[in-house]
Amino acid sequence: MTYHKQEIERLNTELLNYQEVAKPDALEAAEQKRKEAEPELSELTEPHAYERHLNQYLADAQAAADAGDRDEPRCDCGRPTCPVLNGKLPASVVNAGSIDQGIRIYQRDHVGSAVVLTEARRDYMQTCADVKSVLREAVGLIKQDQIPDGDGEGASA
Ligand SMILES: [Zn+2]
Repeated sequence: MTYHKQEIERLNTELLNYQEVAKPDALEAAEQKRKEAEPELSELTEPHAYERHLNQYLADAQAAADAGDRDEPRCDCGRPTCPVLNGKLPASVVNAGSIDQGIRIYQRDHVGSAVVLTEARRDYMQTCADVKSVLREAVGLIKQDQIPDGDGEGASA
């Protein structure tokens, strides 16, 4: 999942770099667009964003289940000690070489399906895809109205 984060950070940096050469209108339009990606953009660029997102998803799913707003099973093991049913990433997942590998091993070895982990992963990937899409649009906006090369305003590449 570091790929998503790197791509988001790259787009964000590209946006910052263009700020110096963009016209005010383009800068304003791009900034407005970038704000559409918040607060997810800030969350995704924080350390351990993936782990935090998954934990938040599991906690939200637990709250929804407790409130009777969720009928889909989170894990079908039915054990009161199941971390997933308690709204947390299992320690073995957090401590695995990678979280994705940890999830695969956990789902293989756990007595229940822990299906909510798959859901939480998809939600993270969808959030990343949405943020990337907004950032790409913002980069497009900030680039579109640039000061042309060679007009003497020093906007050399
Ligand atoms: Zn379970």
